[in-house]
Amino acid sequence: WQKIDVQNRSRDELYEMEKTFNEMIDYLKGNFEKQEVFVSDASHELKTPISIVKSYAQLLERRGKENPEVFNESVEAIDSEADRMQKLVEQMLSLAKNKTKAAMQQVDMITLSEETIATFQGAYDRNISFDKRHEKLLVNGNPNQLQQVVYILIDNALKYSNDEIKIVIDERNNEAIFQVTDYGQGIPEKEQERIFDRFYRMDKARSRDTGGTGLGLAIANTITDAHNGRLFVTSNVGEGSTFTLTLPLD
Ligand code: ADP
Repeated sequence: WQKIDVQNRSRDELYEMEKTFNEMIDYLKGNFEKQEVFVSDASHELKTPISIVKSYAQLLERRGKENPEVFNESVEAIDSEADRMQKLVEQMLSLAKNKTKAAMQQVDMITLSEETIATFQGAYDRNISFDKRHEKLLVNGNPNQLQQVVYILIDNALKYSNDEIKIVIDERNNEAIFQVTDYGQGIPEKEQERIFDRFYRMDKARSRDTGGTGLGLAIANTITDAHNGRLFVTSNVGEGSTFTLTLPLD
């Protein structure tokens, strides 16, 4: 803060200063409100698994001892809700951490994508086609964070469709382009912006069944912004979706 010599300033300068000051206050207020919304959404999301765990623990206590079926069902539910809470907490931490500047280095998007695809091919029995149009595509970034984005996009494509998914990686206008296409349910136009919001899920019940938290795309978006990239979707309901990530080439 500089000491301001008000008397020697012209009216215009004072007017400009007042404008800047008001903008600063609005910015801080906006940030504060966003934090408040985040904390309230996060508590809400955590409350559901906590209350499910509690009710199964009570059921276990009342009827679990003499009834093996109730015992197994309760233990299974508690275990899966605990997994859910763990995922939520990890993703919330990731969202907070990815806001601070990470160490950058030269990253080859082709190798990074191949490695990530290989982990999915090992775990899923699904056809994932990969069309790489270059041998190397170097960007300046944090490898862990970029891998996280690629992972989230592939994971979603697999979660929200049943057929083959297609991955294309290319270069255009000095940008690396990473694209994932699925032939699943698609996303209505009015939802296409909102899916990048924290905790937003189009179908809460379905997304919950597939382990969704609504934080994946928000994390991917924060990381992309920190890399001066762009992340967007084109989609038609009933036909499928294409998520595109672009990053400036190094
Ligand atoms: P989630 O953990 O629920 O998958 P995301 O932030 O990754 O959270 O995605 C937010 C929502 O966007 C999802 O719940 C889903 O409704 C929608 N969505 C994301 N990717 C796709 C996709 N490939 N096809 C259809 N819907 C999608």
